[in-house]
Amino acid sequence: PTAVAPAPSPSPSAAPSAPAPAAPSPARAPTGGESRPVYELDAGQRVVALTIDDGPDPRHTPTVLALLEQYGIRATFFLIGENATEHTGLVREIAARGHHIANHTWTHPDLRSLSEGKVRDELERTSDLLHRTTGKVPSWFRAPGGDWSSTALRVSAELGMRPMAWSVDPRDWARPGTGVITDRILRDVRPGAIVLNHDGGGDRSQTVAALKTYLPVLIDSGYHFTAPPG
Ligand SMILES: [Zn+2]
Repeated sequence: PTAVAPAPSPSPSAAPSAPAPAAPSPARAPTGGESRPVYELDAGQRVVALTIDDGPDPRHTPTVLALLEQYGIRATFFLIGENATEHTGLVREIAARGHHIANHTWTHPDLRSLSEGKVRDELERTSDLLHRTTGKVPSWFRAPGGDWSSTALRVSAELGMRPMAWSVDPRDWARPGTGVITDRILRDVRPGAIVLNHDGGGDRSQTVAALKTYLPVLIDSGYHFTAPPG
C-alpha cells in the first residue's frame, strides 16, 4: 500500500546497519479479494507490467537498470533477501530510479513445504530488510516458482503485501536462447500482461539481450509499461 506510515527517505550514505525500524505495519488490511494472486492487469489498456525476479545481481541488474532508463520503463523487482542484503547499494539504486521493490522471500524456498513460522520468517525478514534499505515497505509479494500456498497468501496479507503472479513466462531462467525468449514474449504479450523475467539466479545474459530486442518492439507497437501500485 502507498498509505503506509511515512518512513525516512533513503540516503545514499545510509549504512545498511542503520537501526531497524519497527516491523512493517500496513495502514489497512488487504481484503479477501486481494489475497488471490494477480495474474494480469486490466486488459482495457495497452499496458504491460514487467517483473524482474531473483536479484539483485551485480552482473546483470545494472545493465537492466540502464535499459529501463533508456526506454523510460518502470518495472517491479522481486528481490531475494539474501541477495539484497549483500547488494544493498543496488537495492537503493533500483528504488531511487522509481522501480518497485518487491518481496520474493529470503532464500527462495518452496513455501509449500515450510511451516507457518518459517514462511513468516522468509517474508518478514525480507520486508524488514527492504524497508530498512529503501525506506519503503514492499507492497507486492511473489512466491518462488509461483508455488503459492494458503499459508503464504495469509502471511503476506498480514504483512501488508498483495500477491503478484504472471501471465507471460518465457522461461528465460532455463536459458533457451535469446531468440526463443524474445519470440515467446512477443507471441504471448497482450494488453494487461504481466511478464516474468530474471536478472538473478545465474547467467542472465540471454535475458538482458532479449530485453534489448523486445522492449523497443513492444513500445513501437503502442504498449506502455507500468509498475502496478500496491
Ligand atoms: Zn524466483
